[in-house]
Amino acid sequence: MAKTTIDLTGRIGMLPNLLSARTRALQARVSDARSVVSVCPYCAVGCSTLAYVGDDGRLLDVEGNPDSPISAGHLCPKGSAIFGLTVNSARWTSVKYRAPHSRHWEDRPLGWTLERIAHLVKETRERTFVRERDGKRVNHTLGIASLGGATFGCEENYLLGKLMHSLGVVSIENQARI
Ligand code: SF4
Repeated sequence: MAKTTIDLTGRIGMLPNLLSARTRALQARVSDARSVVSVCPYCAVGCSTLAYVGDDGRLLDVEGNPDSPISAGHLCPKGSAIFGLTVNSARWTSVKYRAPHSRHWEDRPLGWTLERIAHLVKETRERTFVRERDGKRVNHTLGIASLGGATFGCEENYLLGKLMHSLGVVSIENQARI
């Protein structure tokens, strides 16, 4: 039986001749936009991205970064949806707060929220701080835990660790698994 081989290289090489002048002249809509190197916010793989920004500072698109040593420009389906995560009319852009025993969420300003968190951290630390246990100095609190983000770099994790240890927090976790 005759063996049929397909020379893909040759066929792809012929492709430009099959394209119309209009198709050949087409360009990506972000080809003139400024690109900023970033990283996917979702998981510990940490694929690099290119965020395309218009003259007015508006985000136009987010694509995989071909220079990424991890993913070489590819993004998984979740990472491919980063633009929709960022530019989305349904996205909440204010802090939602539900007071104790309340059934309703309220919008609160970011400044108020940070003060509230700082107050609760201070109050919880003072209430749960243990100096000694079983005759040994421990200087810790088990009332606070820290769960870091998957995309934290070495420096960010170092700073977070310093902050938590200075408070006596010993329950410190991070999503990163690589
Ligand atoms: S693109 Fe996918 S695999 Fe890569 S960091 Fe984002 S979620 Fe993880």
